[in-house]
Amino acid sequence: MPDSMEVDVAIVGGGMVGASLALGLRDLGIAVLLVEGTAPDSSAQSSFDERTTALGNASRRIFEGLGVWADIAPQAAAIRTIHVSDAGRFGFARLRAEEQGIDAFGYVVANRVIGAALWQQLTASQGSSPQGIVLRVPARPEEVAISAEGVQLTVVSDGGVRERVSARLVVAADGARSSVRAAAGIEADVEDYDQIAIVANVAADRPHDGTAYERFTPSGPIAVLPLYDGSHGVIWSCRPQDAAEVLLLDDDSYLRELQTRFGWRAGRFVRASHRASYPLKLTRAVSTTAIRTVLIGNAAQALHPIAGQGFNLGLRDAAMLAEVIANAGAGPPGGAARVDVGAPDLIRRFGEWRASDRSGVVRFTDGLVKLFGDARPGMAVLRNLGLLMFDLAPPAKSALARVSAGFGGPTPRLARGLPVREGERP
Ligand SMILES: Cc1cc2nc3c(=O)[nH]c(=O)nc-3n(C[C@H](O)[C@H](O)[C@H](O)COP(=O)(O)OP(=O)(O)OC[C@H]3O[C@@H](n4cnc5c(N)ncnc54)[C@H](O)[C@@H]3O)c2cc1C
Repeated sequence: MPDSMEVDVAIVGGGMVGASLALGLRDLGIAVLLVEGTAPDSSAQSSFDERTTALGNASRRIFEGLGVWADIAPQAAAIRTIHVSDAGRFGFARLRAEEQGIDAFGYVVANRVIGAALWQQLTASQGSSPQGIVLRVPARPEEVAISAEGVQLTVVSDGGVRERVSARLVVAADGARSSVRAAAGIEADVEDYDQIAIVANVAADRPHDGTAYERFTPSGPIAVLPLYDGSHGVIWSCRPQDAAEVLLLDDDSYLRELQTRFGWRAGRFVRASHRASYPLKLTRAVSTTAIRTVLIGNAAQALHPIAGQGFNLGLRDAAMLAEVIANAGAGPPGGAARVDVGAPDLIRRFGEWRASDRSGVVRFTDGLVKLFGDARPGMAVLRNLGLLMFDLAPPAKSALARVSAGFGGPTPRLARGLPVREGERP
């Protein structure tokens, strides 16, 4: 006979976004179950791999609020300048953080470092109160049944232990091919960009100066990001047939090709790590909510990495959901909150509050992919004029500098440096 468990929130997926939500819900006096399919330190963990993530300042503030930034900061590289250019053309744009009155546009961190910090806190929070976080890893849900009364899942842990779980709310944080999204009957639109991102860490003959480069080339955009050890995180997005060739190159030939396409702004590239590849698609759930169900992170929308927005957006999803739950008529800070966290008005509020940020980021990112992927000659001129104007026009620069705070709608309290619950002091 399976064991049984009753929780307020069942989160499926403990990757970067699901693990962040679980931390945001700790200390709210509600019972939270986090089910993750792969151990956080396993080489098979796809969220915490060797990729690097550019975190905006809003994400840094959220991580501060979740108590993980102190562990991440020593291995984060600040982005102090952003340089955007189009290969072989005159236009380029340069933004300096100090001109915007900020210390940095954001920080680049290895996903592995973010995962370790999140899971260390989760493990420490486990069972710290009767209503705390229960972790099931490696484990997967089976038979997810969702109705207006509640959510029933069977959670199967490695080794075959089965537990029957009742939850008031199920959160899909299980990535772009979310099985919870399917169980909730939510369709997703998928647009294949016909591009593959090839990711590697590359050392140059001189350390970086805190500049993040985005260079648009005929074979696709190349991002070169500063890393905390002085080297660079390189994301080279290209057509599948070109990607197959790039992946087959030996290290010296790869460095030569990269240098030819990217140029010499960051110095001479001298060493490359193992290369990994990611097919690029836009996956967009037709709705982020359904009965007793909320989608966050890649389960809601998975984007092209061209503007480094996917995780930042997903983290704001998590921060806003934690806030909506924390303030849903909950009792005094620290008190037990026996509100129905899966109630329709709460879910509706979450969906409404996230709608404009989500659609703004999706449109912005998709628009960039199409604008810079368009080979028509007139488009190249437009792009270059755009970049040049951008470099000359302070208001445009300030607008981009603000992008990291979100694209509209209410900004989550955590992203503003405030506690998740109203009425608490920072
Ligand atoms: C090359 C590349 C570079 C990127 N760079 C940036 C960047 O610089 N900045 C940025 O903001 N974003 C970036 N992104 C986007 C970012 O990686 C994603 O937005 C982020 O990983 C989303 O996290 P997630 O937790 O929602 O989903 P995922 O990372 O996909 O995690 C899903 C988790 O759910 C688990 N899971 C799946 N199915 C189940 C199941 N049935 N049961 C239990 N667990 C399950 C998985 O094991 C995993 O841990 C980049 C993406 C790519 C591809």
